[in-house]
Amino acid sequence: MTEQTYAAGGGVETIQADAVNSRTRRPLYAARVKIFPKAVDGFYRRLKWAILAVALAVYWITPWLRWDRGPAAPDQAVLVDLANRRFYFFFIEIWPQEFYYVAGLLIMAGLGLFLVTSVLGRAWCGYACPQTVWTDLYMAVERLVEGDRNARMRLDKAPWGLEKIRKRVTVHTLWILIAVATGGAWVFYFADAPTLLRELVTLQAAPVAYTTIAILTATTYVFAGFMREQVCTYMCPWPRIQGAMLDEDSLIVTYNAWRGEPRSRGQKKALAQGLDVGDCVDCNACVAVCPMGIDIRDGQQLECITCALCIDACNDIMAKVGKPRDLISYTTLRDYETHSAEARRAGRAVATQNQRRVGVSHVVRPRTILYFSLWSLIGLAMLFGIATRDRLDLNVLPDRNPLYVTLADGSIRNGYTVKILNMVPETRSFVLGTDGLRNAQLRLAEGDGQGGSELRIDVEPDRLREVKVFVTLPRDEVRRERSDFRFVVRDVESGETSHEGTHFHGPEQ
Ligand code: SF4
Ligand code: SF4
Repeated sequence: MTEQTYAAGGGVETIQADAVNSRTRRPLYAARVKIFPKAVDGFYRRLKWAILAVALAVYWITPWLRWDRGPAAPDQAVLVDLANRRFYFFFIEIWPQEFYYVAGLLIMAGLGLFLVTSVLGRAWCGYACPQTVWTDLYMAVERLVEGDRNARMRLDKAPWGLEKIRKRVTVHTLWILIAVATGGAWVFYFADAPTLLRELVTLQAAPVAYTTIAILTATTYVFAGFMREQVCTYMCPWPRIQGAMLDEDSLIVTYNAWRGEPRSRGQKKALAQGLDVGDCVDCNACVAVCPMGIDIRDGQQLECITCALCIDACNDIMAKVGKPRDLISYTTLRDYETHSAEARRAGRAVATQNQRRVGVSHVVRPRTILYFSLWSLIGLAMLFGIATRDRLDLNVLPDRNPLYVTLADGSIRNGYTVKILNMVPETRSFVLGTDGLRNAQLRLAEGDGQGGSELRIDVEPDRLREVKVFVTLPRDEVRRERSDFRFVVRDVESGETSHEGTHFHGPEQ
């Protein structure tokens, strides 16, 4: 790869750029060859900037959003509260026993990825994957300090001097600051962000917080600064999995060879000589902007993350040479075959004129309908589950030793450990009673030992209260060695109830 550029036919500048990572030239594993992607402007580049800004803003701002849940619960909108084993997401609070909601969210994320992949190929990789977003950010810093492709290549080859040291130190300092901010933001999802920030700067935070930040700082710095496309090509399993998900109707970034070939740098001369030339002026602009170091004209490659920057670069060239856009475009294999056949049959100009744009039929098809239906069903089921789920839970454990006690008046007493879980952030009063036992008397073992056919028990916000309860039956009501019944707990105000079956033991009959 050299920094040299020269003018080609048609006034377009041809860039000397090797596709260092094109499959056709690589073994199964190859050591990294430095890539110097050229800056490009266009629709997809601007879309990528917008997605990058939103993704980073969401990542860095989210832990600082507040959500009032009352005095008994944290006011951080999104919080993984490991100490209290809770996950808070705005108005949703997930308890450990409700972890299936998190599993549901993961399944939805998987199906969403399948859906996007079957419609837009590796859109996730090209636009929203953290590796892409952070690498893009690192490249922007690099470009800001060291200049565009040619300047960076020159600097890379230049001997070490003051200027080179100054630029490299600036780039790496900015990279490390971004990496620290990345690692730092992550830990704020696991504790109250303002408190943790205070503890971090006063060196009073837990060692695990510093360790996590250090690990994430190092991985961000190494992955986005040095390994870049190597992570996508060799470490990530996703490129392999995609192959199974793409079909002939998936939109993928494609070089329309039926239009571009035979490529020619001296188009005017070739045309004057009556030679057949395609629309590709072989300027290498698409190769020079590719962050993966490949040439899309070599066909579909595992390395291509479908970032579409080559589309922007080529559209720019097509505008300069006065030819239609989309020599490189998002297209489907089916459309590509149709156009190729048309170009062979009716000629390149006719096929180019009829080149199809992305339409509804690319998106709505059986596979995408299936993915979308499954995704929506799971989402609706989860919403319904969350809207109607119990905020009260009851758990009962009968005493094993002794199974029962005969009191002085002959009545029989059983002991139980009763756990009442109040899952709302305010104190609630409950009434605990039995169902299925006649004339049962309940008594709390602790406190004032209140008794009666029902017990009144208060439970603090977001807490589990465990009480020891004695249930006593008159001797003539105990007709079996073991009788089934259930404890019933009822919220005095809302009337919400929960129950749990258990047994009452008595002497042999
Ligand atoms: S070939 Fe084009 S779409 Fe694929 S990674 Fe390179 S620039 Fe992005
Ligand atoms: S495909 Fe487009 S950008 Fe790439 S070399 Fe040909 S004309 Fe240039």
